[in-house]
Amino acid sequence: MKNIDWKNLSFGYVKTDFNVRCAFKDGAWGELEVSDNEYIPMHMAAVSLHYAQEIFEGLKAFRGKDDKIRIFRMDENARRFQTSARMLMMPPLPIETFEAAIRKVVELNKEYVPPYESGASLYIRPVMFGTSAQVGVNPSKEYLFIVFVSPVGPYFKGGFKPTPYVVMRQFDRAAPLGTGTIKCGGNYAASLEAGAKAHEMGYSAVFYLDPKEKKYVDECGAANFFGIKNNTYITPKSNSILPSITNKSLMTLAEDMGMKVERRHVPVEELATFEEAGACGTAAVISPVERIDDYDTKVSYVFSKDGQPGPVSLKLYNKLRGIQYGDEPDTHQWVTVL
Ligand SMILES: *Cc1c(COP(=O)(O)O)cnc(C)c1O
Repeated sequence: MKNIDWKNLSFGYVKTDFNVRCAFKDGAWGELEVSDNEYIPMHMAAVSLHYAQEIFEGLKAFRGKDDKIRIFRMDENARRFQTSARMLMMPPLPIETFEAAIRKVVELNKEYVPPYESGASLYIRPVMFGTSAQVGVNPSKEYLFIVFVSPVGPYFKGGFKPTPYVVMRQFDRAAPLGTGTIKCGGNYAASLEAGAKAHEMGYSAVFYLDPKEKKYVDECGAANFFGIKNNTYITPKSNSILPSITNKSLMTLAEDMGMKVERRHVPVEELATFEEAGACGTAAVISPVERIDDYDTKVSYVFSKDGQPGPVSLKLYNKLRGIQYGDEPDTHQWVTVL
């Protein structure tokens, strides 16, 4: 194991030993290559730099009590990566190549997978972008796929604690029929200003409404949203949210626990009826929502009065983390043991 202060890792970039790459050229994907270089040779006219033909993924590997390394649902990330590629007219990377690259990069950097006790994990970042030098607006002919890893601590420094969000109708992260459903850098660039404004006002992130009517709940910054009421797990259905693998997993676990699951439009006013609410994604699993302030109407929806997460959110969080670290049985075959 590397000499790293595992307990004080943030969610940031830490240099590791190797990354894995694969290039698309002359209409075909090449072989996987291992590199120890953190930099990429790229032409200044590369399509991705000018026209944002770029997609990425985020997943994690965990070290268990048994010292085994587990990768969570990488087949789902591989499929979503293909969906993202198709929407931006990029060549979809074969599922097997994606999975082989993930296994390889984790194997090569296994001394960077944090110890079980630290509660930290190894973040895995696949990225793909158009590299052809061209000024005309056309899909790139050549692409580079890279996977690098970085040991990370919990996404939210405060730990599993509820935090506040804010609705601001003057910002959208995606258009009604735009790229909200895929994981592309362009969506993130478009959300930076709103995110900075929310942070300035003391919020964790912007709470986005559907961009067409501003009537329904969409996403919590770059995380999916769920609410809990009457033993039901409710999460928005929308054409502008990213289908979160964490959310999908939580829906399955909620059903396992005997809860009802509803994926449907969630009118903003319905927030007032939820007993608990949470943001979910790979980075934090669940980040409980303390309250949502509507900046425009001045209405506040409060989910946690005592600064503690709700019992259902806590149970779901512990169950999913347990599966990821190998403490709970992997009844749905979500985990790849390296
Ligand atoms: C990545 C992402 C999520 C979370 O997805 P997971 O698969 O659970 O990590 C949610 N919303 C947006 C916009 C994202 O980019």
